[in-house]
Amino acid sequence: MRVDVVVIGGGATGCGIAWDLSLRGLTVAVAEKGEVGGATSGRFHGLLHSGARYAATDPAAAAECRAESAILGRIAAGALDDTGGLFVQGPDDPDEFVERWRGACASAGIPTAELPREEALRREPGLSTAARRIFAVPDAVCRSIELCRMLRAAAEARGARFLTRHRCVGILVEAGAAAGVRLEEAGTGASVEIRCSVVVNAAGPWSGAVAALAGVSLPMDLVRGAMLAFEGRLVSAALNRLRPADEGDIILPRGRVSIAGTTAVRTDDPDDRTVDEAEIQRITERIGVMLPGLREARLAHAWAAVRPLRDPRGRAGGSDPWMLSRDFSVIDHAADGVQRLVSVVGGKLTTFRLMAERASDAVCGALGRAAECRTAVTPIG
Ligand SMILES: Cc1cc2nc3c(=O)[nH]c(=O)nc-3n(C[C@H](O)[C@H](O)[C@H](O)COP(=O)(O)OP(=O)(O)OC[C@H]3O[C@@H](n4cnc5c(N)ncnc54)[C@H](O)[C@@H]3O)c2cc1C
Repeated sequence: MRVDVVVIGGGATGCGIAWDLSLRGLTVAVAEKGEVGGATSGRFHGLLHSGARYAATDPAAAAECRAESAILGRIAAGALDDTGGLFVQGPDDPDEFVERWRGACASAGIPTAELPREEALRREPGLSTAARRIFAVPDAVCRSIELCRMLRAAAEARGARFLTRHRCVGILVEAGAAAGVRLEEAGTGASVEIRCSVVVNAAGPWSGAVAALAGVSLPMDLVRGAMLAFEGRLVSAALNRLRPADEGDIILPRGRVSIAGTTAVRTDDPDDRTVDEAEIQRITERIGVMLPGLREARLAHAWAAVRPLRDPRGRAGGSDPWMLSRDFSVIDHAADGVQRLVSVVGGKLTTFRLMAERASDAVCGALGRAAECRTAVTPIG
């Protein structure tokens, strides 16, 4: 098989790149070792960030989230639930932070509207009466597997090929440039070779391992987080603790359950699925401060996933995993001695479209093709 571009990874980012490049008229194949959306993208918390969560600490990521969540509301409404979001100041959450947070939201263009307590309790009857100040923000909930499936279907309708259950086990490098990939099919072990002009590494937390297949070093800041699904729709909006980002800050409704999370533990293993009892206790206790009924709710399921972060400041960014940037990078590995190999790492699911746009721009640059991105104005599907 021969295509213009092979994308390694069928998460939101890889599916977004396949959609973007297909719209630009390029031929694309996506190699995914599991199922589309089956890794980090399908195991995430579920918040379509307005940016408010990051406004005080990571203004660049906050502004990106604001712009991208508005775009997704127009092009991917079928995969979103417009729940709205509330930021809730608990009894011990610092006053100083509230005004700083509001100012940072205003600078990033994120609207915040303070609600009288009675109004907030009418909207969220389970909210603690000890909540001090409550603000509405334009957060939403994303059904990410549906989003990935929509992107796949839209890309396939324009000729893209998706090879699921195909693990990339080799990147062919010829005369200093990526020239194709070698895949192995799960179950049969059958080998497939695809020739191409550009390879894109969109392998999420596995991006370091995929880059190594081309002999390139790509250090990542991997951070595991745990999530808990409680039976019942305990909230109707996404509730955030109004304090500097920490464990157990967010609970949101998804279908018939409520998802509470999360934690942040550095790891070296992209397959780390650990959820320990202490994490379950901490999440329940801390979200219980704004939603006391959670402590009596039935836990239906607990799981973990690994954030594929790469803070450009590296470990100099500090050892606190909450302080690592949620911004993303597109890396052209020509500087590492391999041309026509592009990696895209970091970011949030909320910013997958922008990540795909920038990675696709880099692909077009490497190919010398002038083709404009149209994903911001083209509904998916
Ligand atoms: C605990 C947690 C909570 C989060 N909460 C939110 C949130 O509320 N809102 C938000 O916007 N973001 C959130 N995120 C971030 C978000 O989930 C990720 O940024 C996003 O899903 C990354 O998508 P991706 O496509 O880059 O990676 P992935 O979804 O991991 O996709 C990479 C794909 O590459 C495939 N792959 C890997 N190696 C190979 C190989 N050798 N060959 C073929 N395929 C390969 C994998 O199987 C995988 O499907 C959260 C993340 C975590 C961990």
